[in-house]
Amino acid sequence: MKISGLKKIIVADHYGFCMGVKNAISIARETAALADTCTILKEIVHNDAVVENFKRKGVEQARSIDAISDGTVIIPAHGVSPEVLRKAERKGLKIVNATCPLVIRIHKIVKKLAEEGYRVLHFGDPDHDETVGIVGWAPERVEVIASLEALNAYPDYEGKLALTSQTTARSADFAAVEQEARRRFPQIEVFNTICNATNQRQEAIVKLAPNVDLILVVGSPSSANSNRLVRISRTICSESYLINSADDILVDWFTGTKPIATVGISAGASTPDFLIAGAIDRLRDMADREIEVVYPSGRRRDNRLAMDSPQS
Ligand code: SF4
Repeated sequence: MKISGLKKIIVADHYGFCMGVKNAISIARETAALADTCTILKEIVHNDAVVENFKRKGVEQARSIDAISDGTVIIPAHGVSPEVLRKAERKGLKIVNATCPLVIRIHKIVKKLAEEGYRVLHFGDPDHDETVGIVGWAPERVEVIASLEALNAYPDYEGKLALTSQTTARSADFAAVEQEARRRFPQIEVFNTICNATNQRQEAIVKLAPNVDLILVVGSPSSANSNRLVRISRTICSESYLINSADDILVDWFTGTKPIATVGISAGASTPDFLIAGAIDRLRDMADREIEVVYPSGRRRDNRLAMDSPQS
């Protein structure tokens, strides 16, 4: 069934692969090409298509170091604790570290603060791989604060205290936590460790959302920053959906009482360009007329990185 009324697609100013993700995928690809036995620890980045691509090429993936018997282990973009690295060394594995440099920066900050006697409040999702890795750099000193409520419940403390953040946290949420933390703990040292790629994608969706009738964020359910983009978008444009691929787009979204003339598209930092192009192609197929597609300057759908292609 064709949908009527859709005329235009606007792609967000910033979307898709960030520097850290490109870097991790590139390291994993080069390592896999050279090593006889090579295993990625967990997911190289949180995107199902990227993970599948490595599986198709025969690159093993393991949930833990315990499950890897020999060869090379690739540490994913989200990073791990030193204990995981030590375990890999004890097993005689060759370690290739594809951790994003901006995550490594937080490891170093947290370690140094702990050595200097600080307690560190880390604003993040306690179950996210990045957070688990960061906590592991000073487990006896870092406590995860998942929300403003959690901060409010934190007991009074007059010693040395610092605040850091998950790289993909929402800036506005971190700002609220920072403000309250400074009020309650005037001595606190604040390190805003949200990465630039996260800020750019969040700001771009805030700019895009008021100008469209529906927003699609392309990203996997496991991607923290993709989920966050949808949550931010939904505060402005109620018709905001996370799609893992073009196959998830539902005709029903376009046939309700609210006319959908313009669709906005964004994507999390771990989403390859071919998935965004696929979503645009699907919308074009679904529409009953020619669709205008507005790309941000400098980005075009035919300017895909080789690593993006499902065949590469
Ligand atoms: S989202 Fe930021 S921290 Fe995470 S991999 Fe990308 S650049 Fe690095």
